[in-house]
Amino acid sequence: MVPSHMLPRFNEILASLSLKSEVYISNVQHLIDTERPKVRPRADFGWTDYYTLDEIYAWLDSLVEKYPGVVTPIVGGESYEGRQIRGVKVSYKTGNPGVALEGGIHAREWISSATATYILNKLLTSEDPVIKDLAQSFDYYVFPVTNPDGYVYTHTTDRTWRKTRSQSNSACYGADPNRNWDFHWMEAGASSSPCSDSYAGASPFSEIETRTLANYLRSISDTLLVYLDFHSYSQLLMFPYGHSQDHVSNYDVLYPLGLEAAAALAKNNGTRYEVGSIYDAIYPASGGSIDWVRGVLDTPYSYVWELRDTGRYGFLLPASQIIDTAEETLSSAVVILSHAKSNLRVNKKQ
Ligand SMILES: [Zn+2]
Repeated sequence: MVPSHMLPRFNEILASLSLKSEVYISNVQHLIDTERPKVRPRADFGWTDYYTLDEIYAWLDSLVEKYPGVVTPIVGGESYEGRQIRGVKVSYKTGNPGVALEGGIHAREWISSATATYILNKLLTSEDPVIKDLAQSFDYYVFPVTNPDGYVYTHTTDRTWRKTRSQSNSACYGADPNRNWDFHWMEAGASSSPCSDSYAGASPFSEIETRTLANYLRSISDTLLVYLDFHSYSQLLMFPYGHSQDHVSNYDVLYPLGLEAAAALAKNNGTRYEVGSIYDAIYPASGGSIDWVRGVLDTPYSYVWELRDTGRYGFLLPASQIIDTAEETLSSAVVILSHAKSNLRVNKKQ
């Protein structure tokens, strides 16, 4: 991204180095200005607009009130600036295996948090017998915003902020919370430079957000069967690992199941997703949450979506695409959850 007043100089540099270039987005500010509807929807909460952290947390509170005995508040951890990583647990009966949903670990990926809240809402309100059955067959631990400081910062100051907001000796703030998990940390696709957007942090779990969230996940790991993580953008459905191209032990389950899930997703609006391990499908990247959840907690079904789109809007996906994006994503999650449910006995966690 180049500020307009520096464009001539930038082009000179490109020319002097004989570098070819291509414009992806000609005016980022225009996309920021038109991402949200001109008139805010009148409903308190919905999926035709993006919401602030406070609005999302207030909505979670409203669910606890509306569904007593089913929805309970949970705290997945805390942030550098002292916020809570708040979520809810949805449980219709005791003894269910667990499913965790992680949203918003990268601050600017607003569609991630919106998709997580959309799926949470469907678990509570859908009349579809398949979704109702899945809602009642698992305990869901839903954290729509796992990087609350960063998320707030994208609303107040810099729409395209990605990292946490921790401060160290460096002039630059934050670490990439999806390069900071303590599993093959810093082995691939992560930076040791504090100013990089993929800075892995000073050490594994240097960030309080990842450290405390990992502790929470450890506390439910005995029953945790499925981990669903949402990012944007690129339209990819991926599974571990990111640090190495070696296949995860249940690759022969995760890959075909991923293809089936992507096919179900495409049925909604024709949106095409590529499927593969993180290493194969996008790029080598170590220290991500799903690798840790798979590698350390031994959670058999760990998936991560890179949601819409493929670069036309990038991180600035218009709010008018939230419902279609979330609905198609739910279709793919249903495939994964249905498979996990029908194979409970072959998985050691039940
Ligand atoms: Zn991301």
